[in-house]
Amino acid sequence: MATDENCIFCKIIAGKIPSRKFIETDKAYAFLDIGPTAPGHSLIIPKYHAAKFHELPDETLSDILPVAKKIALATGATDYNLLQNNGRIAHQVVGHVHFHVIPKPNEEQGLVVGWPSTSPSKEELDEL
Ligand code: AMP
Ligand code: ZN
Repeated sequence: MATDENCIFCKIIAGKIPSRKFIETDKAYAFLDIGPTAPGHSLIIPKYHAAKFHELPDETLSDILPVAKKIALATGATDYNLLQNNGRIAHQVVGHVHFHVIPKPNEEQGLVVGWPSTSPSKEELDEL
């Protein structure tokens, strides 16, 4: 299993840094976010250390979504977001893959999404 001794989330998995754990499987670990944007804001991390989503083995990825579903149910939230950031400009702060489960109880709490949409031409869409 890939680990990084300098990684804060690897240290959480190893029990060297405390966390409020929800669920642990062979391949994943889920706990409360220390800086929640809404009550119940949680993180799911793979036990395999990788910085970005596309670097994870498929068998690790397939373990994570069922954990996300359990946590979404456990929060009791009717409205919520799953968020997974890759790279600094995409708002990733911790360099170990993590999936946020963020309840959206009202307009003020939870994820706020900025989505600058564009209107590509038919030719540009074909090219893409
Ligand atoms: P991101 O911007 O996607 O990299 O999010 C990193 C998240 O990790 C933030 O929501 C932080 O509040 C959270 N975080 C950082 N350190 C800890 C920690 N020791 N325990 C729990 N959550 C943490
Ligand atoms: Zn790590």
